Amino acid sequence: MSPLFVPGPVDVPSEVQEALAKPMIYHRGLAFEQLYHAAERKARNLFETQQHVHIASFSGTGMLELSMRNLVTDKVLCCVSGGFADRWHEIAITNGKDADLLTVELGKPFLPEIIVDQLKKTHYDAVAIVHNETSTGVENPLPEIATAVREFSPDTLIMADCVSSLGGARIAFDQWGLDFAFGSINKCLAMPPGLSLGVASQRALDKAKTVPNRGWFMDLLRYEEHFATDTVPSTPAVSLFFALDVQLDRILAEGLENRYARHARLSERVQKWGESHQMPPFAQENYRSKTMNTLRNGHQLNFAGLRAFLKERDLEIANGYQQLKDITFRIANMGELQMSDVDYLLESLEDFISRRGQS
Ligand SMILES: *Cc1c(COP(=O)(O)O)cnc(C)c1O
Repeated sequence: MSPLFVPGPVDVPSEVQEALAKPMIYHRGLAFEQLYHAAERKARNLFETQQHVHIASFSGTGMLELSMRNLVTDKVLCCVSGGFADRWHEIAITNGKDADLLTVELGKPFLPEIIVDQLKKTHYDAVAIVHNETSTGVENPLPEIATAVREFSPDTLIMADCVSSLGGARIAFDQWGLDFAFGSINKCLAMPPGLSLGVASQRALDKAKTVPNRGWFMDLLRYEEHFATDTVPSTPAVSLFFALDVQLDRILAEGLENRYARHARLSERVQKWGESHQMPPFAQENYRSKTMNTLRNGHQLNFAGLRAFLKERDLEIANGYQQLKDITFRIANMGELQMSDVDYLLESLEDFISRRGQS
């Protein structure tokens, strides 16, 4: 085992890997329908929802695109404070949508008031917000944002990118009143890349009916139609469905509350370590991610050197994202990682820092 502390893909349990090797089945047949049905019912737990979970054979970025194509006619508000929100905004623009940009300083969260102030100026079809910004390590207060948006502008849809939190931190789709939320399997679900999971509210489905040019491959309503017969519109990544079914059993056996608590404990350990080793978290206190950390490079460590050093111990962390490269590093604690893994990584970082001090 060589623990991957990068924010996806992460280490895949061997039982899940074995499921990938199952003999192929035809996706237009009872066996696939049963597989789909079973995995979908289990996946609802991840979103705490009674709505359908659409299991799509593309990575999380596909859901960024699907949301813009299906749920926006006139105008969307993109809340951007980091690389993934930025990508979502770019997707809106490149799909010909009229997208307004709302920004806060990198490392700061979007507070509900900031968003409501913008809603006072303009009416939006939808607000797009990243729950867990994997570039800065900020967790935005999604439930509070959803409540505030709903109160101020009841017909504005709330679209949430939960790609790097789903399966590692709580998402309560129905209770929080979200309209579209999604994640991908290669982050906290600890699976190989290739599937994403998306949930739409009835309001979102009604809205989609009014949106022209939704396309074919990512048409939410086409997914919804096929859902009735436990199928999907085009050939799915069948092997990943086998693996998802097995992994959801494992996840539910651990217990979602336990899984979330484990992620939160590991993340807090990294934050505390960073604070006491001149590598404090980049994200503002009280709004820090529970699934990964962006730490300031307080020792001016050379990332290539650090990476090579860690590689010898079979460890891997990620550099900062885009403009945060080299001035921050990212240590994720997604998936199946345990405290002993994190302890070993932090010891290794200490070794690197102290050796460097001697040379
Ligand atoms: C990883 C990530 C994405 C992109 O997902 P892919 O599965 O890599 O396409 C989008 N948003 C966030 C917040 C992410 O962390």
